[in-house]
Amino acid sequence: MSDALEQRQEDAATAPAEAAEIESVEEVEDDVAELDPEVVARRDAALAHVRKFGDPVLRTKARAVERFDEALRDEVRRMGLLMDDALGIGLAATQVGVLHRLLVYRVQSGAPLAALANPVIEWSSKEEEIAEEGCLSLPTVHVEVERPVHVRVRAQDEYGEPILIEASGLEARVIQHELDHLDGVLILDRTPRDQRKSAMRALREWRERHP
Ligand code: ZN
Repeated sequence: MSDALEQRQEDAATAPAEAAEIESVEEVEDDVAELDPEVVARRDAALAHVRKFGDPVLRTKARAVERFDEALRDEVRRMGLLMDDALGIGLAATQVGVLHRLLVYRVQSGAPLAALANPVIEWSSKEEEIAEEGCLSLPTVHVEVERPVHVRVRAQDEYGEPILIEASGLEARVIQHELDHLDGVLILDRTPRDQRKSAMRALREWRERHP
């Protein structure tokens, strides 16, 4: 059993509302052997569309969404499909090379896709928690990140309607992770130095295997 899975079970024990579906913030990766080959093929095809570490777009601050038109809703739909195929629970537009302040997520399977345009964290709790996170843009990397447990986020939906979200636990974590992407921030920037070092090594090795 991986550490990440243990982490998930601990989380599940303390927060039963968050059905323990997901191993780490963006992706499920270590249990590939148990996945249907078709699911793996679909996942790999989806991941090919996700910008990876080293791509300068991941370090670029995204611009506000100004037009809430059919093109934007299309973008939301495409991001949702890509996220599902990639077995992720969150995706920022930055990760598909679109510098829009737009993110999608779904932390409970079967729940409708949540889309947040122009999200702003209006309040976050003093209480913080450390948990392991993965990222579709950082293959093989899992690092611990400390984040506020509760956040209140103002945003707009894909029609431009204002929304206010009070999120805790995994949902709060995913929103913060994706919002970081919109500012060009990666989990590597938020983890202790020793973990960052081994993550960088893992990324280099991954690149050598996937030239
Ligand atoms: Zn990510």
